[in-house]
Parts: sequence; C-alpha cells; structure tokens
Amino acid sequence: MKIYGNGILFTLNSKDPVIKNGAVLIDQGIIKDYGKTNLLKQRYQESDYFNVKDKIIMPGMINTHMHFYSTFARGMNLKTDSPPENFSEILEKLWWRLDQTLNSEDIYYSALYALIESIRNGTTTIFDHHASYGYIENSLDIITEAVVKSKLRANLSFEISDRHGSLKSEEALKENRRFIERSEKLNNDFLTPNIGIHASFTVEDKTLLDIAELAEATDTPTHFHIAEGKIDQKDSQKRGYKNITERLNKLNILKENSLAIHGVHLSADELQILKENNVYLIHNPESNMGNAVGAIDLKNTLNKNLKVGLGTDGYTTDMFNELKVADLLQKHDSSNPNVGGLDIKKLVFENNREIAQKYFKKRLGIIKKDVPADLIVIDYKSPTPITKENYFFHILFGFNGGMVDTTIVNGQVLMENREVEILDYEKTIRKCKRQAEDFWKRF
Ligand SMILES: [Zn+2]
Repeated sequence: MKIYGNGILFTLNSKDPVIKNGAVLIDQGIIKDYGKTNLLKQRYQESDYFNVKDKIIMPGMINTHMHFYSTFARGMNLKTDSPPENFSEILEKLWWRLDQTLNSEDIYYSALYALIESIRNGTTTIFDHHASYGYIENSLDIITEAVVKSKLRANLSFEISDRHGSLKSEEALKENRRFIERSEKLNNDFLTPNIGIHASFTVEDKTLLDIAELAEATDTPTHFHIAEGKIDQKDSQKRGYKNITERLNKLNILKENSLAIHGVHLSADELQILKENNVYLIHNPESNMGNAVGAIDLKNTLNKNLKVGLGTDGYTTDMFNELKVADLLQKHDSSNPNVGGLDIKKLVFENNREIAQKYFKKRLGIIKKDVPADLIVIDYKSPTPITKENYFFHILFGFNGGMVDTTIVNGQVLMENREVEILDYEKTIRKCKRQAEDFWKRF
C-alpha cells in the first residue's frame, strides 16, 4: 500500500472536488481510499508514504482522438514545389504520402514516442486512429507492442479508406477485424478495439456497408472523421445524399458509442441525428485551427444534448494545451468572451471519461474509492486561493503538460520527478530520431 499525501486533490467527483492537504491510498492498482492526509496516515499506518509537497494530485487526462503515426511529421520537409493551400492539399501533400511511406519500425517508434510524450504530459488513456497504407497487416499489433511497453491505456483502430484503391481498403477492413479478434483473445484491460474509417469522402458505399456488417457482427463501434472540411459534405451530396450524416446513418455506420471526429460543418439536423444514435462528437480545436477548416459552435452543439469530447488529433499530446485552445477558439470565433469556460470542463472532464468508461468498462478520470489508480501529480504553485468553484480555472489558466511531475497508471509509477521510469528515455529518443531521419529520406 502507498499513500501519496500532503497534496491538493482535484478529485473531479462532485461530492468533494477539492481536498486541501489531501491524500490518496493506492493498493494493488486501485484507489482504496482518499481524504485528508493525517486521517489516511492514521488509518493506514503500514503504508509507504510519499509526500508530494503541496502539489496537485488529480486523475490522469483522457485523449479521445489521436494519431500516433503523425510523430515524424514534426519539422519534416514536404519536398513539394508549392506548400499546401487548403485542407485537401494538406491531406494529399502530407498525410496520405506520409502514411504510405511508414514501415514497421516507423510505426513502432512513432507510436512509442507519442505514448512517452503523453506520459510526460499527464495523459493516461488515448484513443488512436491509425493509418499506414504501405504497411497494413499487423500494423495494430506493432502499435500494441508500443502501448504495452508504455503501460498506458489505448483504444486502437485502422482508418479504412478507398483512397488507395479497393484492395487496400479490404486489407484495412481485415486489419480491424483481425485486431478485434486478437483483443478478445488478449483480454488485456489496457487495450480495446474500434473500427476506424478515414472519412466519408474517401470511402465508397460498398465499403461502408462492409464496415457496418463488421461493426454489427463484432458489436464494435466506429471511429471516423466527419465534416472536417467542406469537401466531406459536398462529396456526400454529389453521391445523391442530403448530407454526410444522412449517408452514414443510411449505411449503418452510426453505431452506438461511435466516435465522430470534428463535425465542423454539420447542420443542426445532423447534430440531432448523431445525438439520436448516441454517437459522441470529438472536438480537436488545435488541429481545426492549424488546418484552417473552421470552428464548431460548441454552445449550440451542447444545447442539442450531443455529448462532445476533446481530442488532440495528433497535433499535440498535451491535453492541458488543447483545453486552453478549445476555450480560446470559442471566444475568438464568436467574438464573445462569455463562451467556453465551463463548457470546456464538460468536454474534457465529464464527457471524455464517460467515453473511456464505455470502452474500458472501468471508472477512469475520477478520484473515488475502488477505481483504477490512474493519477498525475502537477507541480503548480497557485498565486491565488483554490476553491471547489474555481479549480477548473486554475487548470485552464495555470497548467500545462510540462508541469506534470508524476504519472501513475493502475498504481504503477510511469514517471516520477519528471523521470520516465518504464524505459531508457534518452536511448529511446535517440532511436526514434534515427528512425525519423531514415523515414524522411524515404518520404
Ligand atoms: Zn484525426
């Protein structure tokens, strides 16, 4: 048994959201108790005691949309005559070329780097959306290896697309099916499958019907980009549908608990259809701004009672950064300083954990008794009082991933005092860089 004490607990439960001089008792991977430090020390005298010296102790962050495979794009020369000028060109000149070039080693080190960086930024559960059209079969096993090494929790899927032809999309569908079957056999609490779909505009009706059949047969939800750019809507209309959501609904893709990513260009009626199907919409503000595709109207979307989560879309692994940008984007886009705020709290701390619970069948993202001990310690010295009413605003204005001091998953310490414990960090980064250099030559 271990006690992490003398901290300020942000429990994210409604009963006692902030506990000063607080402590958490961890036993066999589970939070067995929490409360005032002196009480816990008295109650569990045989425990090992760790003094966090007034730092914040809170649940690990959850990232509901990520692309591990984007790692090697950082600082890469696109080797094109003209830089991409719009969303379609970003896909064609960067991502669709990058994913075709990835080999098995690239996939492994891209994932491992992103996972370690997530540990360093305090994220403990991640939903990844993978593509590697030059290396499809077993690619999700390679990512599994990296996930197992990192000791984080991850949901994995392969983005099915017809953009490289129907043979490739069939292979991608097979990879999802193979991984769903393998996950069942592995029965690993830390790994769950989904069925990935790139986006409606790169998938034919027949492929979508095959995907729906797989989703039905294996009782697995789907994970897809939707209306990120206007091109996605226009494509569905060209195919004779009223809009993209009608297309996905008619072809049975909107399975309960599926993750619809972006939704920048959806009408009120379409948001209603997603809601009626119990599909989650995942917002990725940094990526949306980077690709200059527009912004969702978050207030309006939440008013439709649609559940919206928050992800990073490969743009960053720092959920603290992402929530800050989410807040700014809403204010900036609507010229209204009174939006964002607590709506962002709902995305990142209520909806993301509900999604994680649906997929991992565990209470994640909360400090309460008998839940997995996925915790982070933040080195934050507040200039002002922290209260149960204002703690989210300390996170919003005061936190970033670089302040994460300790990351714990299922009771196991993955990083302590900013030292990554699970592998030789420096050596891994060196290997990753060498691999990236080799990849850039092939790109
Ligand atoms: Zn994405």
